[in-house]
Amino acid sequence: MVREHGTITRAEVSALTRLSRSAVSNLVTELIDTGRLVERAGPAKGPGSGSGRPSLVLAPVLPDGVLLAIDFGHNHVRVAAADMAGGIRAERITELDVDTNAARAMDCCADLVTAVLADAGADQDAVLAAAAGIPGPLDNAPERKVRSPTILADWIELSPAIELERRIGHPVAIDNDANLGALGELRFGAGRGAGDFIYVKASHGIGASIVLGGQPYRGASGIAGEIGHTQIPGVAQWCRCGNRGCLETTVSIDIIRTELSRLRPTLVDPVLAADDPVARRILAEAGRTIGRVVADLCNCLNPAAVILGGELGEYGTAVIDGLRDSIDRYSQPATSEAVAVLAAENGRRAELLGALALAAQQAAFDR
Ligand SMILES: [Zn+2]
Repeated sequence: MVREHGTITRAEVSALTRLSRSAVSNLVTELIDTGRLVERAGPAKGPGSGSGRPSLVLAPVLPDGVLLAIDFGHNHVRVAAADMAGGIRAERITELDVDTNAARAMDCCADLVTAVLADAGADQDAVLAAAAGIPGPLDNAPERKVRSPTILADWIELSPAIELERRIGHPVAIDNDANLGALGELRFGAGRGAGDFIYVKASHGIGASIVLGGQPYRGASGIAGEIGHTQIPGVAQWCRCGNRGCLETTVSIDIIRTELSRLRPTLVDPVLAADDPVARRILAEAGRTIGRVVADLCNCLNPAAVILGGELGEYGTAVIDGLRDSIDRYSQPATSEAVAVLAAENGRRAELLGALALAAQQAAFDR
């Protein structure tokens, strides 16, 4: 809890955990004695808040060393080396077709790990933990294998954790990219403080992470959240999954870029598209189409926020307005009043930052 909050008072720990103050006190003493926590003066209180005497806060003792964060997209591998406080010391990205060549993508990842460690001036012994996001569904078994034969065909039956550990020489915690995007927003972005929210990653595919009580809901076999394969009425295109009319076949970053470059060739860039009436209509329609699917999820789950990430999320207001329109139109009024619709603050780096948060958790557990 201290690691999640950065700094926190004993009273806040007691309130959040519902442990008695004496139980918290015993645990804190043990953690201070074993060198995992320190207690120091917190920030001074503002004027009018009583004595002005700062209260004591607990803070984690952060080990020296490097965390490795890895993000596999459908078309890129991104790797960062960071310290335990979350500061990025080096970052590199390589574009390649990840979906159809698992072995090449993982070899590329190993090369990038070597390169970012060199950039950060760190050697292999300094690595505290590593975590990676995979752009497809993973099962819940300990080896976390890629299971869906329709979504990431060349990765099927592979355990990315085992394959990556063999290549980079460190254990690698694994989750799917949307769950890590959600974790990135929960720790470092628009999801801070939200317990129940839906994170939608809209890039080349569309996936979602359903966060309930601060944890991603994984489903019976680990593949919850594949909203990209929801049927949209009136759409007839074949999908990579073998079905027709899936959400992904009508809205994806590739389709939006193709339409923008056909109608507004100079406005494919998100910043330029924001001020153009035609581009805004295309983007709002994309938002409304995703929103039609998300509205049903809102009716089922009553989330506090819907956060749009991925490359489509970077188009900002127009897409978000469209998403909001559909949620207001198709979810119940009390549900739509309760939900904030937001762009991811970390954009396309949300998954990388989620991997960083997961690696930090692993480093904390391993100590
Ligand atoms: Zn499909």
